[in-house]
Parts: sequence; structure tokens; C-alpha cells
Amino acid sequence: MSKEDAQRFADAIMQAKSTVFTCKVCQNLTDSEICPICSNPNRDPGVICVVADPRDVLAFERTREYNGLYHVLHGVISPMNHIGPDDIRIRELLQRVADTDVREVIIATNPDTEGEATAMYLARLLKPFGVAVTRLAYGIPVGGHLEYIDEVTLMRALEGRREI
Ligand SMILES: [Zn+2]
Repeated sequence: MSKEDAQRFADAIMQAKSTVFTCKVCQNLTDSEICPICSNPNRDPGVICVVADPRDVLAFERTREYNGLYHVLHGVISPMNHIGPDDIRIRELLQRVADTDVREVIIATNPDTEGEATAMYLARLLKPFGVAVTRLAYGIPVGGHLEYIDEVTLMRALEGRREI
């Protein structure tokens, strides 16, 4: 590769990197300021499904059953890994719930120890806003990861969610 080609290659990578944003509303990765899900007028803005990872949004979208919006935390609270509430996008979630008309927040973190602890922490913060806080029903194996769960199981877990 010539020096010029190498430079062009490097520029292309920088360009690709700079066109990935996090959505101002849901914090999901997107190529625009507000992602296509948040800007879709046919989606119900009254329901927010909170997930740990952008890949979990794709898992829910594959079910084609969920019509609300998302909030991507970009991690879970994990004292073992020194990840506290301020290291993930919790503040942005609370701001959304405070500023918009949200009826229900579905907490869809993975059903493992850290996911459960994060769900409980969020439920405590969200309750004072007067929204229903729900958790996915089991059927998802404990320790399982949402992104590897088949659509039918995930759809049932969503349908059978309960208030926490
Ligand atoms: Zn968004």
C-alpha cells in the first residue's frame, strides 16, 4: 500500500467512526442525531424498554411485537467492575421520564445478578415519577443473555411482564 493509500484508508476509518452517534433521546447507536426508532411517529412514546446494550434493541426489534421506544444504558451497575450508576445512562433515562409522558418503563436488563441489581435500583428511582415499572417475565433462563434468546421466548417474556 502506498503512503497515499494508507492515508486514505485511515481517513475512511475516521470518517466512519465520526458518523456513528448516540441518539439524543434513547442513547442507541445511530447515524443521525435522533435514531429512526425515536423519530418514528407510529411508535408509542409512552412505553420505554430499558436495555443494557444496543444489541438488545435488535433482539426486541426482531420480535416485531414491541411498538414502544427504548433506552440504552450502555452497561449495568457492576461494583465488581467499578461501574456505578453514574457510569451508565441512568441520568438520561430519568430526564426522559421527567420530561415526557411516559406510562410504563419495562426494565429488560439480563436476568443475571448485575442485571437484577440494576433493575431494582432503577425501579426505586423511577417509582416516584408515578410510572408503572415492569420487568420481563421469566422464561428467559437465569444468567441468559437477551441477544441470544429466540423471538418467541422474548415475545412471551415481554407479554408476561410484571410490575416490580
Ligand atoms: Zn433513539
